[in-house]
Amino acid sequence: MTVKAITGKTRLCALLGDPVEHTMSPAMHNAAFRKLGLDYVYLPFRVSAADLPNAVNGMRALNAAGFNVTIPHKVAVIPRLDGLDPLAERIGAVNTVVNCDGELRGYNTDASGFIQALRQQGVEPDDKNIVVVGAGGAARAIGYILAEHDAHLTILNRREEIEWAEDLAEMLTDDFGRRVSVMELCFDNLATALDTADILVNATSLGMSPAADNSPVPAELLRPGLVVFDVVYNPVKTRLLLEASEAGARTISGIDMLAWQGALAFEKWTGKTAPLDLMRKEAVKALEKHED
Ligand code: NAP
Repeated sequence: MTVKAITGKTRLCALLGDPVEHTMSPAMHNAAFRKLGLDYVYLPFRVSAADLPNAVNGMRALNAAGFNVTIPHKVAVIPRLDGLDPLAERIGAVNTVVNCDGELRGYNTDASGFIQALRQQGVEPDDKNIVVVGAGGAARAIGYILAEHDAHLTILNRREEIEWAEDLAEMLTDDFGRRVSVMELCFDNLATALDTADILVNATSLGMSPAADNSPVPAELLRPGLVVFDVVYNPVKTRLLLEASEAGARTISGIDMLAWQGALAFEKWTGKTAPLDLMRKEAVKALEKHED
């Protein structure tokens, strides 16, 4: 892969995570920089939890334009920053950091990327019945932004870890005064919740390659009139999305959310409108290359 020629003025953007070997972000961002003729480069760095404070200070010392943060650093990075966007503060997780004249400010573009991907398909979350399966990091960001949009939320998570979902529900109820239902993830509860649902979101890692034969929701519960959003982007068409299409439901892939979270970060670093379609295409290409 070629990047634009590096110059004495090239601005650095980066990814800090562990592992980072399979990330699609360098392909997305470097293609977008090239397309817009911007003198920026994006590099992934594998950073252990112990090295995170030094790595963040390194970004500061190198005057990086900004960086992404991924597993396992999305929460741990917060005390290392100088400020937080209110949404990132409420979610309690950061995936994008912007260097504003030496001040590092944290954002959560996973949450806003999810909403943008939904809206791009003409789906507004406001006042909708939304079933979120899972209660991990992605579910928390998604639950928060959906509650901000006045959605009626039902969260289902597997039994042994149900307290995670209850914590999330309590947080959403405290902050937004909305009742959030929490249920154990099982067939009967899914059937009840989906009966009146407008939107189903899979926020678990179920269905992710190499276990792509899994789905969190049995095919018989999918139906026309339902919008099914799978945050899993590898494969682009998960088993859940394939079965949802067959059942006549509308589908949205996690790859759209991935491209949007990248595009929103790109815009914060460069001040330019991101070439979203190109970034999505590059993400798919990088994914296919990784699968070969
Ligand atoms: P996480 O914090 O580890 O949470 C994983 C969630 O999946 C938990 O709720 C976990 O339930 C559930 N889960 C895992 N295996 C399960 C199983 N066999 N049965 C039922 N539930 C299961 O991970 P995360 O950061 O939220 O990421 C979740 C997925 O979202 C990943 O595939 C990730 O790649 C994807 N993601 C996509 C984007 C995007 O831009 N499209 C952004 C962020 C994340 P327990 O609590 O019971 O363990």
